[in-house]
Amino acid sequence: MPDSYDVVIIGAGPAGLAAGIYAGRAGLNSIMIEKDKGGLIASTFAVENYPGATENISGAMLSERMRQQALSSGCQIMLGEATFVEKKPNGLFETTLLETTLASNKKVLQSISVIAATGTTPRMLGVPGELKYRGKGVSYCATCDAFFFRGKEVVVIGGGDSALQEARYLAKIASKVTIVHRRDEFRATKAEVNATRAIGDKIGFLLNCIPVEIYGAGIVQGVKVQDTQSGGFVDVPCDGVFIYAGLVPQNNIFTGLVDLDSNGYIIAGENTHTSLEGMFAAGDTRTTLLRQVVTACADGAVSALQAGDYISKFVKSNS
Ligand code: NAP
Repeated sequence: MPDSYDVVIIGAGPAGLAAGIYAGRAGLNSIMIEKDKGGLIASTFAVENYPGATENISGAMLSERMRQQALSSGCQIMLGEATFVEKKPNGLFETTLLETTLASNKKVLQSISVIAATGTTPRMLGVPGELKYRGKGVSYCATCDAFFFRGKEVVVIGGGDSALQEARYLAKIASKVTIVHRRDEFRATKAEVNATRAIGDKIGFLLNCIPVEIYGAGIVQGVKVQDTQSGGFVDVPCDGVFIYAGLVPQNNIFTGLVDLDSNGYIIAGENTHTSLEGMFAAGDTRTTLLRQVVTACADGAVSALQAGDYISKFVKSNS
């Protein structure tokens, strides 16, 4: 017999953690499956725009606080990776996961409701050398790897909030940071652009340039970029390449179960309802206008309360 819960929350980023806090406080028998501790935000060096987080708190610290709050609210946390979710003819969900223990154990959790809070993962550029030099100078996480580039020159690829924010972090450690962006306008907010430009010479900009190759000899030695205006190629010698080319939703396990949009996001509105009754989607993983910690937390809260309503109705109609 699988272990039974009111709600299984898949994902332990801000959306999943907020769902855990609200589900626990609502008295729901809830469990969260945690694959990556804290989600993507845990690798952010400083969270500056979450209301109340005025003390320059790191993403890791903020998510650890949320985690402790979810546990003390009564939500259980299991380390593992959900690999399959199905809804049985009796209306109950079964979530299969590989539990992360010393050995990976396959486990099945039964629940009345499921909250998908699986978040996103960094998008790869897909250029030659990216895979070859991953871990040998190519990184997707400045907070994790900046240490290795003390006094060295690095390139940051992308023009979004992540690229600019992490470039500023790298500028504290590296000798020179060059931001390579494919347009001359940034996707990042004005505040991020201004804060990055205010750093001065330590951060250079190479705009209207597309990275076409990451080259090296055993380790990264540079990036070759193409100027979109002239069509010419430019070599940018560097020791490290930090890629922030956007995010990809982690929704493969939900393909065929709920409706996804053409980019792979779960189609769900503000009420977090998906196309499948009893299943809810919270945070970056759903179709939404804004992907921030504040919106993920709000979604987590809404999804837990919506799941609670669904569970009450389900129990009533099955008793
Ligand atoms: P993003 O906003 O999607 O930006 C990705 C950047 O990579 C864009 O500038 C894009 O260029 C560029 N790019 C994509 N594919 C590329 C390719 N093949 N070659 C070269 N460049 C490529 O991603 P993000 O910065 O990771 O942010 C994701 C979400 O998190 C956003 O909603 C963002 O607001 C949020 N976020 C917020 C904060 C904050 O509030 N402080 C911090 C980090 C992230 P184009 O602009 O030309 O498309």
